[in-house]
Amino acid sequence: MKKQFSIPLVNAHTHAAMVYFRGLAEDLPLKQWLEQYIWPMEAKHVNSQFVYEQTKLAVQEMKNNWIKSLLDMYFFEDEVAQACEEEKIYAFVWESLLDFPTPNAKTPIEWIAYTQKLLEKYKNSEYIKVCVAPHSIYATSQNILLESKQLAKDYNTIYHIHLSESQNEFDECIAKHNKTPVKYMYDLGLLDSKTLLAHCVRLTDQDIDILAETGASIAHCPLSNLKLGSGIIPLKKLIEKWVNVCLGTDGAASSNRLDIREAGKFCALVQKGINLDSSFLTAKQVVEMMSINGMKALDLKYIDGKSITDIQKMIDEEQNFNYLYELNVWDLDFN
Ligand SMILES: [Zn+2]
Repeated sequence: MKKQFSIPLVNAHTHAAMVYFRGLAEDLPLKQWLEQYIWPMEAKHVNSQFVYEQTKLAVQEMKNNWIKSLLDMYFFEDEVAQACEEEKIYAFVWESLLDFPTPNAKTPIEWIAYTQKLLEKYKNSEYIKVCVAPHSIYATSQNILLESKQLAKDYNTIYHIHLSESQNEFDECIAKHNKTPVKYMYDLGLLDSKTLLAHCVRLTDQDIDILAETGASIAHCPLSNLKLGSGIIPLKKLIEKWVNVCLGTDGAASSNRLDIREAGKFCALVQKGINLDSSFLTAKQVVEMMSINGMKALDLKYIDGKSITDIQKMIDEEQNFNYLYELNVWDLDFN
């Protein structure tokens, strides 16, 4: 099948340079995958040159899969920005912050200074937008969550974090704070329309009401959630409450391919299956999740001169979206 995508696709959550770790840690739960494999491998290999070279490869792969904009959360984001500018792809770059030393920052203070430097350096860039990204509530202290939100507010930029990605994270948060991850973020004042949450697999009905009330968006990464055995997002309830949900591939270490169409296909099929409802989540809705919902979440006004309204019109004029279901995940020459 040959399908030229005229609709610009947005990959709303990835870690581009992790293409290097593709296939190196498979069939593991999230905690073990991160703590025993990914973080030690990153400590060993990741430096600025590594990030630049691997990001170039990842961006070329994404461009081959019709992705026009990406959100990258990793380390040495100055090099990520440089690679993305050279490739002329709209990139939201986020230097990841953890409570332990990262390959690029020994302390949270160093991280804040680095992020601030990037915010200044790229404030007039056509392709690069710098955002603020603490890694997660389990790997970042409460003080840093609050300080980094203030930084995002000062620069009127997006605040991004992994949240409620697994049952384990959910249970730990309840045990430690006596509240769900979403409620914990809400009570700290961290949720608003400039907050983008990656995953949100494990949500209560009250969490969904909070997300609807605050206008926070979700970057749903179905392949990564399935492969790490993290669970399935309650998408039907989220859509019923008008929560903005877009799609991400996550890094190639957890989802193996940087193809947002594949994430979309799996998202549609899994949701139809678990809801016992073939009419739920049409292919058209999934294409909207892959494009305009990502633009809304990232506050991205234009891609290649096309606004959200222009792209919505293009989607409305498409005759059918069967290509989503016909996508052959083995066909690397799909383009
Ligand atoms: Zn991630």
